[in-house]
Amino acid sequence: MRLSRYFLPVLKETPAEAQIVSHRYMLRAGMIKQAAAGIYSWLPLGFRVLKNIERIVHEEQMRAGHIPMLMPTLQSADLWRESGRFDAYGPEMLRLKDRHGRDMLYGPTNEELITDIFRAHVNSYKDLPLTLYHIQWKFRDEIRPRFGVMRGREFYMKDGYNFDIDRDAALHAYNRHMVSYLRTYERMGLQAIPMRADSGPIGGDDTHEFLVLADTGESEVFYDSAITDLRFGDRQVNYDDREECAAIVREWTTPYARTDETHDPALFAEIPEARRKRSRAIEVGQIFYFGTKYSDPMGATVTNDKGEQVPVHMGSHGIGVSRLVGAIIEASHDDKGIIWPEGVTPFHVGIVNLRQGDAGCDAACEGLYAALVAAGLDPLYDDREERAGAKFATMDLIGLPWRITVGPRGLKAGVVELTSRRSGESEEMSSEAAVDRLLEVYAAHRPGAAPV
Ligand code: ATP
Ligand code: MG
Repeated sequence: MRLSRYFLPVLKETPAEAQIVSHRYMLRAGMIKQAAAGIYSWLPLGFRVLKNIERIVHEEQMRAGHIPMLMPTLQSADLWRESGRFDAYGPEMLRLKDRHGRDMLYGPTNEELITDIFRAHVNSYKDLPLTLYHIQWKFRDEIRPRFGVMRGREFYMKDGYNFDIDRDAALHAYNRHMVSYLRTYERMGLQAIPMRADSGPIGGDDTHEFLVLADTGESEVFYDSAITDLRFGDRQVNYDDREECAAIVREWTTPYARTDETHDPALFAEIPEARRKRSRAIEVGQIFYFGTKYSDPMGATVTNDKGEQVPVHMGSHGIGVSRLVGAIIEASHDDKGIIWPEGVTPFHVGIVNLRQGDAGCDAACEGLYAALVAAGLDPLYDDREERAGAKFATMDLIGLPWRITVGPRGLKAGVVELTSRRSGESEEMSSEAAVDRLLEVYAAHRPGAAPV
């Protein structure tokens, strides 16, 4: 993409309404625009990041054997009356009536809808296990929408639902989700720690939240610092192997890590003092096992291998796709702007032409641009008639992890400059070498690639 033809409405002033850094940078970098309280338009740069996060979520869900589909945002109240949640959910649910006076709602979550699909089509244990998921907009009429996309009213969420014959099979689905989530967040360059949590209005007995440590987080958490040393890395997991998944879950759930709702001071006190940590954190996902909570009242049963009708065991599993955009910025920025992890960056590399209009510089930039595109990379070429300082400031603000600077002096020596946004270090090399280096860097971040 050439910046002169793009839509990147960067703001010079710091918006007064934004209290936290991710919200400020998302507004300043022209990623979002508020449409109403807690409701945002995703401008092109923000949309790219949102889609990258969504893609990683899809890839990791499918890798775990979960099946994508799409359910609507608007739902009929009837199903929610069956489960008893139409009244129980409270004012966070946006309720509306259609022209015939029928009660409708904008889905805050989808347990009822998916259970209805299941009961209409699945009758036998032979069709299990089954995990269906979608990535769809949700609406929760939050009392205090704030912090931009972090606590919106309309937000984008991956929600998945597992259907299993019994508790053991459903607990395997729970473990499978935990493993796939660990891998998902790591691919986004995030450390999200699973912590024992409270189940809230979804209900159920077993639940973990995934939390990113950040001072601006709304959750209070207590953990053993040993857990922050764990890395998922490039493990090849057989998601059908119950013991393999359970072993990974044990690895991550053995060190103490809990939200304030489930915090146990006596257990916490047993951790050596130097490792006892208390922090703020951002919830970026949650997994639940809730057994037959929805299948019982809604009659979602299957025949088991003895021919008996039994209610199906379920769980639900969410990832806050739009919240993640903010959470990643909270975890990765400096005072000049965002620093995108390679896995989610909106463009792989920025090209800065130090002397736009100079025939040599323009030709070198065009050649580099074409070489990057031919290599399958996605560059953003700043081809505007702007001062070098302004170009650097824009690149730093929007946070592309790599920048190639092309100027007349370097060209004389046959080199361009490759700069890392994270370390600030620059290296001179030929254009070809810069393309090769970027191909190496991004090899692990291509669609479908294994995480680093
Ligand atoms: P919170 O406690 O932050 O209100 P929740 O526990 O009610 O969230 P879940 O039902 O667990 O949310 O939804 C799954 C994920 O969706 C959450 O982990 C979070 O990342 C995201 N999410 C929930 N509410 C919002 C919101 N208002 N804005 C943006 N993302 C949200
Ligand atoms: Mg939650």
